[in-house]
Amino acid sequence: MICLWRLRNFYKVKLTIVNMEIYLDNAATTKVDEKVAEIVNEIMTEDFGNVSSLHAKGRKAAERLGEARKRLAKYLGCDPTEIIFTSGGTEGNNLAIRGLAKANPSKKHIITSVIEHPCVLDTCKDLEKEGYEVDYLGIDSEGLVSLDEVEEKIRKDTLLVSVMHVNNEIGVIEPVEDIGLICRKHGVYFHTDNVQGFLKEALALASIDLMSVSGHKVCAPKGVGFLYVRDGVRILPILTGGGQEGNLRSGTENVPGAVGLAAALDVDFRIGEVRASRDLVIEDLKKIPGAKINGSIKERVYNNISVSFYGIEGESLMLMLNEDKVYVSTGSACASKKLAGSYVLEAMGVDEMYLHGSLRLSLGVDVIGNEDYVVERIRKHVLKLREMSPFKFSEENLSGSLNSSKGGSSLTGGSKSEILGGSTSLEDCSDCVNGDDNDKEVVDNEKEN
Ligand code: PLP
Repeated sequence: MICLWRLRNFYKVKLTIVNMEIYLDNAATTKVDEKVAEIVNEIMTEDFGNVSSLHAKGRKAAERLGEARKRLAKYLGCDPTEIIFTSGGTEGNNLAIRGLAKANPSKKHIITSVIEHPCVLDTCKDLEKEGYEVDYLGIDSEGLVSLDEVEEKIRKDTLLVSVMHVNNEIGVIEPVEDIGLICRKHGVYFHTDNVQGFLKEALALASIDLMSVSGHKVCAPKGVGFLYVRDGVRILPILTGGGQEGNLRSGTENVPGAVGLAAALDVDFRIGEVRASRDLVIEDLKKIPGAKINGSIKERVYNNISVSFYGIEGESLMLMLNEDKVYVSTGSACASKKLAGSYVLEAMGVDEMYLHGSLRLSLGVDVIGNEDYVVERIRKHVLKLREMSPFKFSEENLSGSLNSSKGGSSLTGGSKSEILGGSTSLEDCSDCVNGDDNDKEVVDNEKEN
């Protein structure tokens, strides 16, 4: 009897695991919080007026937008007029950099870092084509920019320094308050992309002139964000039209989005619990042979794990985890037939044999209680991928002794791309996922039981 009870309980547990989705990709986007969704829905179906309309519906929408702006301003400790609603982080970053450049045409030098999001890097590249000079700050092996380098690179004609608060891939927290102070000392504007840090890591605005935020990273809807523009900092609009948002961002206001973003201030992200789970997962991942955590452990946002596995391909691992309904990102981009290593890991000097085998886990509440399961699945797939590889890995390869220094790999018996499995596109990678995974069969059988 006891035996039967145990058996039933065992299957119950397994059944939950089989059916459960574990979403660990919160740096890509988050699920909208239920209370936020309710409020957004209320605006869309009741207070849906156009802010510019003079009738009661329009006035009500304007009131809701004003309340959202005031709530965000109160949270940040700034004036409501310093908040410009945008469509998200990409637009906020573009408006900050291009808008400032347009308003201050006499200064043509910009400083940013090599690990910024493409919406900052590509904006800077565009400005280079228009005659701007851009200096790109490097990072150390921990993923951090150097304050000395910021100071060294500032020139008389420097208009702006733009450095992100939290990196989207490795989760490293950059010393932006101190960078802001250096900028202030030299009379240079400072912008920070705070898309990955907002509501996660505290940040004082005292030394910051411009700050971009996005709603969909904090359980609010996609398509909304804001740019904080310190009073007295002059920027020009990059869109022309109806002159909304103090003439800085034309376009009918996204009232549901803005109200949703303000409502996200009430979301309980369970930061302490997620951080504790994150630390458990990191400790267990480190026990997998040839595993390496990327970036500073200390200066890291509470929910990020960037991990690389020696000699495997991150895409294959990500797709195998997808079969388990464990959703993560890779640190590298599988572009057409060419495997591109992550530019962030490359900038940190991560060895090529780790570069292509990286995963980004950006945790949320789903990880709580599932730490062992997640690590067990990762371990299993890493070992499987190594087994499938034409290369035989030596103890030395996997001991971590080669860790992060560039050029440290000492593999023989195949070119690096062969060793990495030879699959060079997502289609190719899917072979690995559909390959003989005996464990999956066991799990499927359990489901039938
Ligand atoms: N900046 C960072 C650091 C990001 O991670 C992202 C999105 O991934 C963006 C900017 C762009 O934000 P959005 O998706 O709201 O345009």
